[in-house]
Amino acid sequence: MTDVTCRNRATVNRVSPIIMATLTMFTRLVSLRGAQTRLLGLPCNHPSLVKYDGYFYGGIAMACMCTDHSYTYDLLVIGGGSGGLAAAKEAVGLNAKVAVLDYVTPSPLGTTWGLGGTCVNVGCIPKKLMHQAALLGEAVHEAATFGWQLPDPKTVKINWEALKTAVQNHVKSVNWVTRVELRTKKVEYLNALGHFKDAHTVIGVTKKGEEKILTAKNILIAVGGRPRYPDIPGALEYGISSDDIFSLERAPGKTLVIGAGYIGLECAGFLNGLGYDATIMVRSIVLRGFDQQMANLVAEEMEQRGVHFIYQAKPKKITKQEDGRLLVDWVDKDGEIHQDVYDTVLFAIGRRALTEELKPENAGLKLVSETGKIEATNEQTNVPNIYAVGDVLHKRPQLTPVAVHAGKLLARRLFGNSTETMDYTNIPTTLFSPLEYGCVGLSEETAIMVHGEEQIEIYHAYYKPTEFFVPQKDVDRCCVKIVALRYDDQRVLGMHFVGPNAGEVIQGFAAAIKCGLTIPKLKSTVGIHPTVAEEFTRIFITKRSGLDPKPQSCCS
Ligand code: FAD
Ligand code: NDP
Repeated sequence: MTDVTCRNRATVNRVSPIIMATLTMFTRLVSLRGAQTRLLGLPCNHPSLVKYDGYFYGGIAMACMCTDHSYTYDLLVIGGGSGGLAAAKEAVGLNAKVAVLDYVTPSPLGTTWGLGGTCVNVGCIPKKLMHQAALLGEAVHEAATFGWQLPDPKTVKINWEALKTAVQNHVKSVNWVTRVELRTKKVEYLNALGHFKDAHTVIGVTKKGEEKILTAKNILIAVGGRPRYPDIPGALEYGISSDDIFSLERAPGKTLVIGAGYIGLECAGFLNGLGYDATIMVRSIVLRGFDQQMANLVAEEMEQRGVHFIYQAKPKKITKQEDGRLLVDWVDKDGEIHQDVYDTVLFAIGRRALTEELKPENAGLKLVSETGKIEATNEQTNVPNIYAVGDVLHKRPQLTPVAVHAGKLLARRLFGNSTETMDYTNIPTTLFSPLEYGCVGLSEETAIMVHGEEQIEIYHAYYKPTEFFVPQKDVDRCCVKIVALRYDDQRVLGMHFVGPNAGEVIQGFAAAIKCGLTIPKLKSTVGIHPTVAEEFTRIFITKRSGLDPKPQSCCS
């Protein structure tokens, strides 16, 4: 922030006429100071200006607050999700005056939700809870093999209504805590849909259609995205998306999930685990962009657990039958049409950034034409006072911790004299599929593409989690893989883990990679036995060696 003026004139106006006269003089000085700071380009809390205050304004300056001369806010955030809220809270902590606009447009089915964005309401949190519900179902069946006396496990089944209510109760509690936190921290929150009037002005339209005009020195776009729907008959009328599944009023029943990315695999995974018939329609390959050896292990494991896969297929149309069920037509790679009937069709074919609604042209903001996303350098867009974080950014991972971290760092740079920028490399992630997949860094394919096969060493091993033995669970697909440089320091470029608690396992190794982990360092790391994470410290077979990576004995 570069300018200053007196914000709380009203308070000062109540003091005696003598002080009023003095005030007039000071006001001029303050304006002068504002002009000077603007000329110097100094932040309002710059040490030299504090001294300047001490000499010329004395105590009165204490009543003056740092804010921009012509704008209401130092920072206006459009979008109260992971990135926007993180930036807003960090900025108020650094004495900026901040407002957040958040508004949820109902899904085609009519689903809507509260403050907090995608992750809290229709993403990570409800997803992880439903994944946990599915894992518990699995655990119930295993428990009998460990001696638990249970009713016939075959009679154990999920009550969708109870699950949905428990999940939604948690989500609502997070909505409430988020609102309270904003109020406590003095972030102004407005439930309104924002669009640009110009580069410093946003119009917020409330549910009742009232327009609020808000001006800010800096504007942060953190509007995230929403599920895309294919342009086929019946998609919008009868299809649902991840926006709807976690609060669906009726049990989903037999479900067709269209799309084989993160969301498609996770949703089909927990639906199958909860006992519903789930099918995934794959247009090309599963988990494009991920290490394909690991992606295929995840898919094979799901198939073995009962998830059906329809490969190389695209939906053509959805019609509603008289009995209320959905008839889906799809076309295979040879052009042949197939049909089946489902209770639910869930689209998970990617997400559209919510940028057009912002009327970016009014602010001179450029969008990437193919994706509608925003290209930014250190989160700064082509309009210098407009920034963007989170899912709305072009070619950045669409993950909550990424949005949060980038938002916080940006606020510190804007209001806290920080120079630290966001490092988008080596970001870990986990797919919460029935057998989870966590990874960080490069896939085998990308490493070979970037460095050449000769320069890359791939270490791999299959392993048997101890806890899988008693229930005699399939261990065929528990696998670890390390992608490393073959020569020099043998730096680790990527780590991949398929197995239980993959997110917990990979998080620590992500820190190690940040610290420059090498193969010799990993080999000198002592494992914790018996865990699944220790498998990374036991790995020694390279693909190049041709040795069998199948499990060795338990403790060798
Ligand atoms: P969002 O969180 O989407 O917030 C944007 C907010 O802005 C929304 O509330 C939106 O309604 C509002 N908004 C939009 N336009 C306007 C406007 N014009 N005016 C006012 N408000 C507006 N990530 C993980 O890291 N781990 C996971 O396990 C994970 N699971 C996921 C599961 C699913 C099903 C989905 C869909 C996503 C998942 N993600 C996960 C991704 C994660 O949710 C997103 O990366 C993250 O929420 C992005 O944060 P954001 O701040 O960019 O946007
Ligand atoms: P993704 O981009 O990951 O996957 C989209 C899938 O839909 C691909 O399989 C794609 O196939 C397919 N597809 C695209 N268009 C069509 C179409 N017209 N017809 C049929 N299939 C189509 O998107 P998601 O929606 O799964 O997830 C969005 C983002 O959310 C992810 O990138 C991730 O960052 C985030 N997320 C994170 C999670 C986590 O951290 N655990 C969990 C869930 C989401 P093709 O490969 O052929 O293009």
